[in-house]
Amino acid sequence: MARPRKVRKIFNPPKMKGFMPYGMQSLATEPVRLKFEEFESIRLINYEMLSQDAAARQMNISRPTFTRIYNRALKIIAKSFAEGKPVNIEGGNYQLDKDWYRCRKCYKLIQGLENHFKCEDCTAYGENELIKLN
Ligand SMILES: [Zn+2]
Repeated sequence: MARPRKVRKIFNPPKMKGFMPYGMQSLATEPVRLKFEEFESIRLINYEMLSQDAAARQMNISRPTFTRIYNRALKIIAKSFAEGKPVNIEGGNYQLDKDWYRCRKCYKLIQGLENHFKCEDCTAYGENELIKLN
């Protein structure tokens, strides 16, 4: 029987929707996809400088699962670098600690339920313009 997949805990969603290479002849190339938990694994190891054990604990997953996610994230980024592919950061099997919304117009991240109906940085207003991330 397959074990249910454990949800990976993430504290902050990525600030951006992805990355785009520049200084290349052709940008018309298929993007690679980096899942939220893969992005978070890179952030915890290479930015927060956590050990893999500490990072696994923070994401509430086992160390082997963390290592698998992290290695996959490195492989995806290497492919993007080597082949000049854009990176889309989207989806995955994760759970954010709070409700987060992204403004569809200016891409601002908005945390919490109380402010989610209106973006303070632009004119965006309502459920169609503020998209829930989790
Ligand atoms: Zn906005």
